[in-house]
Amino acid sequence: MTSQEIIKLSNSYLMHTYNRFPIALVKGKGVKVWDANGKEYLDFTAGLAVCSLGHCHPVVVEALCRQAKELIHVSNLYYIQPQAKLAALIVQNFKGAQVFFCNSGAEANEAALKLARKYAKVNGQPERYEVITALKSFHGRTLATLAATGQPKHQQGFEPLPPGFFHVPFNDLKALEEAINDKTGAVMLEPVQGESGVYPATKDYLAGVRELCHRHKLALIFDEVQCGLGRTGKFLAFQHYGVAPDIFTLAKGLGSGFPIGAMVAKEEFALAFQPGNHASTFGGNPLACAVGLAVLEYILNHGLIEHVTLAGDYFKEQLTLLAQRFPFIREVRGMGLMLALELNQDQNGPEIVRRCMEQGLLINGIEQHILRFLPPLIVTQQEIDQAVNILNQVFLEKADLT
Ligand SMILES: *Cc1c(COP(=O)(O)O)cnc(C)c1O
Repeated sequence: MTSQEIIKLSNSYLMHTYNRFPIALVKGKGVKVWDANGKEYLDFTAGLAVCSLGHCHPVVVEALCRQAKELIHVSNLYYIQPQAKLAALIVQNFKGAQVFFCNSGAEANEAALKLARKYAKVNGQPERYEVITALKSFHGRTLATLAATGQPKHQQGFEPLPPGFFHVPFNDLKALEEAINDKTGAVMLEPVQGESGVYPATKDYLAGVRELCHRHKLALIFDEVQCGLGRTGKFLAFQHYGVAPDIFTLAKGLGSGFPIGAMVAKEEFALAFQPGNHASTFGGNPLACAVGLAVLEYILNHGLIEHVTLAGDYFKEQLTLLAQRFPFIREVRGMGLMLALELNQDQNGPEIVRRCMEQGLLINGIEQHILRFLPPLIVTQQEIDQAVNILNQVFLEKADLT
């Protein structure tokens, strides 16, 4: 089928929940993807921080094919070897922590929120069910994770949302402290906010939040769905800050394209879940976990996290040079390979994203004026140069965009 035929069929039969670009992608390899008409693109979106090893990495393909021939699914009525091995690898540096597997970021966060509630109940404080999260956060699209998400634009039309969620400005410790009351049971934050435009927490803030949570005996949940698993140049983004949460969640990059999510908790918290308390039919199935295991082993054993630091620093330097060259760029921010350019408010971000696509570069636009870059963790300096050249070209031609 041509791109045009695929688009026509999609528009007839799929719900219009997405504002899609008018291309249909049919093939990928490494950092490159091709559309149905044969046009090649550099993919600096990576399935929204998902394809950590790029497209169709041999390690992923091999694990997928090998496990598909052995055992695809059996349910959690039985023990599953790849599930146990993947859990052990995730928590290898978090002594005593335990893992619950699911299939997406929202489900991982939903599980974390349920665990925090159960923990409060088990510890004789059933009234402490409220959760404080940050404005500009993103935690998912299920009703509870939507209530947790601090962005009214995503919530409108779905009220009433589950009660008990309160939002405070990010990186404002005083606001958080003032929001804590006798009913507060948990605080949930992204160490680096992703979906709303790449806003890293400050060091003092996360350290302060940890201290507040200790003092008020609150569960501290870090949503590492986007920033975790090497994306920022550490295994987990919170390791940049020297603070540890009680519970953290993973998803996007874990399967490098295969759906899998995980909720990880310190033993003390994990023990609040007893058999029957929480479950997922597909969660942690042999296929998903075999792929997750292959991806994680690759990330940890092939120096990929160090590579992200180097590649990310290089990319950020190049973006900073662009910012010096083009006065309409207001800020360069982010960590590792989770970076953003913020343009002046009057700029036409979506048009820039569209021009980049025409020139063979896929990037993500946020609102009217933020460009987000989430290339695969395996991206090379040469590919970064290519992407920066395209951005430079589009910015040069920008005179006729506004
Ligand atoms: C994408 C994302 C989610 C939601 O993940 P889904 O797999 O789409 O449910 C949750 N939290 C963060 C930080 C995310 O970036």
